[in-house]
Amino acid sequence: MVDKIIHNKRAVFAGIILAFVISFFWYLKAVEAYDVVIDGKVVAQVKDGDEFMDAVAAYEESIGKELGHSVKNLSSVKLQKNRLNTELLETDFTKLAGNMKLAVNGYRFLIDGKQFFAVYDKSELEKLLEEYKNGFTKGIDEKARIKSIDFKQKTEIIQGLVEITDLVDSSRAAELLNKKEQEAAVIEVKDGENAWIIARRHNISVEDLEKMNPPLDLEKLFPGDRIVVSPFKSRLDVIINLENSVTESIPFKTQNINDSQMYRSQKKVVKPGVPGEKKVTYDIVLENGLQVSMKVAKTEIIKAPVNRVVRIGTKTTVSRGGSRNYGVVSGKRISSNFGWRTHPISGKKSFHDGVDIAANHGTGVYAYSAGRVSFAGWNGGYGKVIFIDHGNGLQTRYAHLSATSVRVGQRVSAGEKIGAVGSTGNSTGPHLHFEVLQNGSLKNPFNYI
Ligand SMILES: [Zn+2]
Repeated sequence: MVDKIIHNKRAVFAGIILAFVISFFWYLKAVEAYDVVIDGKVVAQVKDGDEFMDAVAAYEESIGKELGHSVKNLSSVKLQKNRLNTELLETDFTKLAGNMKLAVNGYRFLIDGKQFFAVYDKSELEKLLEEYKNGFTKGIDEKARIKSIDFKQKTEIIQGLVEITDLVDSSRAAELLNKKEQEAAVIEVKDGENAWIIARRHNISVEDLEKMNPPLDLEKLFPGDRIVVSPFKSRLDVIINLENSVTESIPFKTQNINDSQMYRSQKKVVKPGVPGEKKVTYDIVLENGLQVSMKVAKTEIIKAPVNRVVRIGTKTTVSRGGSRNYGVVSGKRISSNFGWRTHPISGKKSFHDGVDIAANHGTGVYAYSAGRVSFAGWNGGYGKVIFIDHGNGLQTRYAHLSATSVRVGQRVSAGEKIGAVGSTGNSTGPHLHFEVLQNGSLKNPFNYI
């Protein structure tokens, strides 16, 4: 009896021990978890390690299927037994998969050694880059010879493992290529403004303004016209080298024969001049479609000009001083000739209805010969302008003046001061725009000054 009781007591004791052991293991099991270590960093905990590793493999496979390429996991994924930390516990395995660097075989596109983006398909990228380059040939004269189209920066396409987060499709690649790092600054021309005023305000030269606005004739700006004052900046710049030949006229020279029997105001053309013709070949460099340099590579004379011979009076001369005397103004140089001119880049033709003589602001402007003032004042694109009728259907015009010193109806003598050089109206800087009309039709002023 006693034995039996003792025996029962042992059984109860063993039972209690067993219950303790079981609950202890149950407890251990309950507090046991795995740290998920991705690339050396604990990102979370999971309860079931095997289940997690299976999920990782399934995830890689599903991404691979989605991309149509086999995926390689660049990250090291390890499990480490640890005590459960409920704050770290994660049951959403795909959330954890985001911490892994998955890669596929593709092509990295580098600009100056730095990765810009990556693609699967090399030929598609090459096609895109060609399209991007060729986009900058728009607006170039069809007759021009394009010698090369290159990127300014060093570009490389390198095959290898590419992280899927760096991969872009071709429409996104095109978007990235065409995205401007900085947009062009565009302003609207206001009343009373001209290229010269605008250029000065933006601290650039008229020449820069001309380069940034190739389709615009800066001598014909109107209020409301939109012009670029600072070009866009892109990630990838395109340099185009081209060559174009245009026909230009060669103005004839005037040979003066002094005649002490004639007055200063008297001129007599002994032999009329004939302008010549030349074929000028330009070497042009464009960056992103805008001219960065233009040099004359070759000039071939097609037809030599014939000098004009003028007998000129020396009696009572009007002293005009200055570096060069063009008859109506002491100018520095001819900045634009009369007649048709073909733009060497666009091939577009434009007509200049006078000669532009660059001169300092305020330089005196003198009447070509005796006549009567038929207009003096502001006239649209001419700015401040004077028209003088000389009789026999001959009229001369003096435009972009800063000041006029004659009135309508006033008689002027040859060489009389009538105004001063300025940059009013459609002007690209201080200069005299001199025009000659015979019976209302434009004549080459070189035949008159
Ligand atoms: Zn002009």
